[in-house]
Amino acid sequence: MKLGPTYDLLHSENHFYRQSVSDARSCARCLTPIYFRICLKAVDGVVDPLKGVWRLPRCVAIITMSGSPAVVMRLVASAHTVAEKAGAIVRKVLHSGELGIVEKTGANDLQTLADRLAQQSICASLSRSFPKITIIGEEELPAEEIKEDLIEGGHSEEILQKTCPAEYSGLKEEELVVWVDPLDGTKEYTEASRCHHHQTEAQIPNKGSDTSRPHSTALWLLDNVTVLIGIAYEGRAIAGVINQPFYNYQLGAGASLGRTMWGMLGLGAFGFQLQEVPGDRRIVTTTRSHSNKLVTDCVNAMEPHEVIKVGGAGNKIIQLVEGKASAYVFASPGCKKWDTCAPEAILHTVGGKLTDMHGNAYCYNANVKHMNSAGVLATLRNHEYYVSRVPQSVLQALKSD
Ligand code: AMP
Ligand code: MG
Ligand code: MG
Repeated sequence: MKLGPTYDLLHSENHFYRQSVSDARSCARCLTPIYFRICLKAVDGVVDPLKGVWRLPRCVAIITMSGSPAVVMRLVASAHTVAEKAGAIVRKVLHSGELGIVEKTGANDLQTLADRLAQQSICASLSRSFPKITIIGEEELPAEEIKEDLIEGGHSEEILQKTCPAEYSGLKEEELVVWVDPLDGTKEYTEASRCHHHQTEAQIPNKGSDTSRPHSTALWLLDNVTVLIGIAYEGRAIAGVINQPFYNYQLGAGASLGRTMWGMLGLGAFGFQLQEVPGDRRIVTTTRSHSNKLVTDCVNAMEPHEVIKVGGAGNKIIQLVEGKASAYVFASPGCKKWDTCAPEAILHTVGGKLTDMHGNAYCYNANVKHMNSAGVLATLRNHEYYVSRVPQSVLQALKSD
């Protein structure tokens, strides 16, 4: 039998749908989504739609229905698109110049309009598509009607096409917990924004010139900003999506900005090229805006060849998986579960590890305390070495949960 370009697919007793197999996605009559794989072996004889054998008039082929994709695959596929929308919101607010900054616990703990809108968009979009999942977002926002233009109902088709690891294929919505950091690296976002607008103004004739110089160095902070959506099951971070809204900002006006990385345990990590720090160099990445003596003592105890200070938990995990840093060391409370869930899932997927300073795993159940009180230690390789170097003073000051 030769398979031609178009087929009549039998969806139910009386629904025939003629289209090319490669783009068959739903029944044209009833719009029921159709997920199937096609076995190209021709057969003659009985056709039974209930057993996943579909009839193609004039020729007969077996189309093995793979069934609806697993809930968790649909969730990751949605989270991917929802994170892209949140990234677009983060860019839009920066370009508007109206950041609407609010201090939460102090000058180094900020919230902007972008944090608020991105969280509203992510949480409302995911809870509309998955009403039974638990979603925990960083920002405390008043309960209010979410504007319809903030809702994203799309999903990544590429992710939906992937096969769910067997151990997660039966998970139910109510068993999943989603941790949302709508904008990680808010401090750096506000600093980069000041620089961005100073530069923009400087391009206007008769407006600023020399005064723009001290700010021009802060644009690199744009890459510290990420949107984080982590998915946990039975307390473990099993999947994560990281959107980096200003990726490629160096290319200047007109460049298409942003990228999305994602990963799932047992399936793989996508959207970046996994790289290790060359040789045995210990490059430690740590906070630039939340440091204290414990943090610096601990970094020094690692005997690093180089120390990098950047903002954002998501950004620091990107450095680990792209070979820019060997260890993320933050010996202090401050990071919360929404900072580490998505990054941890991606890091673990590629064989890395994220723990507290004692080497103990964090738990991501819905009822855990939000603060990662015992610090964050993350590596792509050689986790044991870094755990072994943590000073006693740190271990005593930061107790595991
Ligand atoms: P950093 O490496 O300083 O950018 O921190 C990573 C994440 O943890 C960011 O989301 C910070 O907002 C958060 N964080 C770390 N330390 C603190 C702190 N002392 N107060 C508030 N947030 C913190
Ligand atoms: Mg954060
Ligand atoms: Mg945040």
